[in-house]
Amino acid sequence: MKIMSINAGSSSLKFSLFNMDNNKVLLSGLFERIGIEGSCYTLKYDEYKIKQEEDIKSHSDAVKILMDKLIELGIVNNLEEIDGIGHRIVHGGAIYKESVVVTDKVLDDIIALSDLAPLHNPAHAMCIKAFKEVLPNTPMVAVFDTAFHQTIEKDRYLYAVPYSWYEDYQVRKYGAHGTSHRYVSLKLKEELKRDDLNIICCHLGNGGSITAIKNGKCIDTSMGFTPHAGIMMGTRSGDIDVSMVPYVMEKEGKSAGEIMNDLNKKSGFLGVSGLSSDSRDIEDGVKEGNERCILAQKMYVNSVVKYIAQYYVLLGKVDVIAFTAGIGENSISTRSDIIEKLTCLGIELDAEANNTRGKFAKISAKNSSVDVYVVPTNEELMIAQDTLNLINR
Ligand code: AMP
Repeated sequence: MKIMSINAGSSSLKFSLFNMDNNKVLLSGLFERIGIEGSCYTLKYDEYKIKQEEDIKSHSDAVKILMDKLIELGIVNNLEEIDGIGHRIVHGGAIYKESVVVTDKVLDDIIALSDLAPLHNPAHAMCIKAFKEVLPNTPMVAVFDTAFHQTIEKDRYLYAVPYSWYEDYQVRKYGAHGTSHRYVSLKLKEELKRDDLNIICCHLGNGGSITAIKNGKCIDTSMGFTPHAGIMMGTRSGDIDVSMVPYVMEKEGKSAGEIMNDLNKKSGFLGVSGLSSDSRDIEDGVKEGNERCILAQKMYVNSVVKYIAQYYVLLGKVDVIAFTAGIGENSISTRSDIIEKLTCLGIELDAEANNTRGKFAKISAKNSSVDVYVVPTNEELMIAQDTLNLINR
């Protein structure tokens, strides 16, 4: 069976077409700058890569080009060969606790939840409609990034703010990266042949979040009402004292929106180092003795360790600490810096085993009190698997 996994942003559309018999990607790619001057797309299949500049006015245009290319490149003989389409949906609010088949009601809900994800949910809805136009009979599934965190108890998802904010405006913790955390949890369950694992999952990418998972269920996560909360990230500050917002607004004569932009796009690694949001540049800066990079790296590690320590206590007994996403899978020194700070808990890395990138691997020392793993994430495959499961049901 062939399933397409879709991740649409306001001006982008990322996709992977999977052969679900062997989980192999038949064609993947990205449409960029949709509706903006300079639009283009990249397609990858076998060892080939095509990059093409083309006027792409809308998500509908992108989907039509994609369908034409599937036939033209011989990836499918006809579009009916696509058995299902899974869409990554950033926000499912408190309504969606798992993936669902897209119906008119689901589409309406995704649109209604735009208040909570104004940059993402409208784009997802647009993309669902675009696929409906060209493949009206192909089942579609919505896979929500927030769904995995819906098992968090109320005393952990609520903020200590006026209760009416929650009742009237749905202000609460929702979390993000749920599809990635769920994938890692399922992968560890499968590899270690245990479904009673207590896991601290560290999704460390440009965005980052840490999740406490008990028997496959999320019991807490570091992101909050929005993905802004939690650990320090590439360009986001992570947790801050909100009182600095009106203070800096006044000092700089900025609006709340401008300050939020500073906190989301000009903070984190970028803000502290003044150099880059990319952890590779920070690592290089550390090696060269750049003081601001050294400071940024220390702050990043501190923020991750703070959440691991918190979840260590919450879980009581931890079986696995897992590292995933760009930094988690690839940064040998960041993993080492983090685990070094956990020596007091008897957690230790095996330096040789940690000398690995992008592969499933156990990296803890034999006598470590907790096993530490690198688990490459695969959100696209998780979306495709959910889609397959739901359309087969
Ligand atoms: P993601 O958001 O998961 O794509 O992760 C992006 C982050 O991963 C960026 O900060 C990259 O610098 C980081 N990253 C990717 N590859 C490496 C690498 N080989 N070493 C260190 N960091 C990496």
